[in-house]
Amino acid sequence: MHPIRLFNTLGRELQEFQPVHPGKVGFYGCGPTVYNFAHIGNLRMYVFEDTLARALRYLGYEVRHVMNITDVGHLTGDDDSGDDKMVKSARERGQSVLEIARFYTDAFFRDTGLLNIRRPDVVCKATEHVADMIDLIRRIEANGYTYFAGGNLYFDVSRFPGYGRLALLNLEDLKAGARIEVDANKRNPYDFVLWFTKGKFENQALVWDSPWGSGYPGWHIECSAMSMKYLGESIDIHAGGIDHIPIHHTNEIAQSESATGKPWVKYWLHGEFLVMGKGKMSKSSGSFLTLRSLTDAGYEPLDYRYFCLGGHYRSQLQFSFEALDSARASRRSLGERLRTLRSQAEPAPAVPADGKARVWLDAFADHLAEDLALPRALADLWGLLRDPEVTPPEALAGAYDMDRVLGLGLREAAEAAPEEKAASPERAAQIERRIAERAAAKKAKDWARADAIRDELKAEGVLLTDGPSGTTWKLS
Ligand code: AMP
Ligand code: ZN
Repeated sequence: MHPIRLFNTLGRELQEFQPVHPGKVGFYGCGPTVYNFAHIGNLRMYVFEDTLARALRYLGYEVRHVMNITDVGHLTGDDDSGDDKMVKSARERGQSVLEIARFYTDAFFRDTGLLNIRRPDVVCKATEHVADMIDLIRRIEANGYTYFAGGNLYFDVSRFPGYGRLALLNLEDLKAGARIEVDANKRNPYDFVLWFTKGKFENQALVWDSPWGSGYPGWHIECSAMSMKYLGESIDIHAGGIDHIPIHHTNEIAQSESATGKPWVKYWLHGEFLVMGKGKMSKSSGSFLTLRSLTDAGYEPLDYRYFCLGGHYRSQLQFSFEALDSARASRRSLGERLRTLRSQAEPAPAVPADGKARVWLDAFADHLAEDLALPRALADLWGLLRDPEVTPPEALAGAYDMDRVLGLGLREAAEAAPEEKAASPERAAQIERRIAERAAAKKAKDWARADAIRDELKAEGVLLTDGPSGTTWKLS
């Protein structure tokens, strides 16, 4: 096992990673709310969690990765305000909540599969674990942390010392009126719902019987209940997006620790946002891209994975099509380099144990172990492939080994037939416009102009072929 350091949001510092049980890692990541397609910002998060699980395994740990699927209880506001996201989506699309959940869960796993994101060891749906949530809420209640008001059971944050430690919240500031209070039943502004009854939404589609009346669970309780069910009461790593620090993860800690009376998660890891233009990509803002919109524009899913690996998980990543073009270009040259190496030799049967290839592999492992520094690890892959002192079979074997973490399909790329060059959608449109201009020149019998356009394009590496149904082109 390689020693690892991780940046723990709890404490805001790099810490030596010491799992509860040596050599084993219990890892929980909050999964999607399945009311819509995942956008590429969400997918960045799942690429991060995937590479984290892969890196831990690569570094010698046995990992159990658990992810929930939220199919009930997540309101449009994380703080109990607004409508249930699932119910709203079902209403808008004229389908049942279960149909919506099934459809978007399938879509999620299709997208993540295309991105080579491994399916977590346990994927658990909230609707199938309501009994576990009720049991956990009873423990919290028995320990005296709850109150009932206006038909809902609330968690009383004033009874939980240390509430908001993860988010460095200052409860005194809050009492002074920092936030607009929406729910008059709450005793403290930060209190949150553990169990909703019909009192809140008359027409809630999915309801369960409970000691507090027929209703449904709040959003946060599902992660506490399911993580404990599959990973025990002490968990090594919990990950999610930074937006979950102040409410969702803060409330998960309060629930879990008030039920068990002991510390819950050792290391909290949070992924930064993908941003586009000025703001974070979000479903609510309406301006978001899905994986499908990238593939429709001619990109391959792994171009996006490569793009994600180029940014550290704790830094914002600025999305643009230019940046995606350059990720695609890099991935293509990676493929070319691998094919060249493969034409020179078969890969070595074993991962190089010594020599210069080993130096690159060791650097790769060290970079992963230093708070998952994937951009550096990616640079180590390039270093290995370009190093004249590394023999082709060793370079290939080393690259395939690194791909256990990078997940870029390097073996398939090395074995693939050489690709035809393709132009970006913008470039293709530009070429088409010049061809149209040339056709117009020919029609006007301006042969000199038509030939000039052909020659200009040729100089730019675009070859034209005139045929009976018009002019076609390809990159030389
Ligand atoms: P949701 O399905 O809306 O619950 O979100 C799934 C995950 O995506 C959460 O962990 C969010 O923190 C994360 N997320 C949402 N927007 C972005 C973004 N623009 N960039 C990166 N992660 C995001
Ligand atoms: Zn969660």
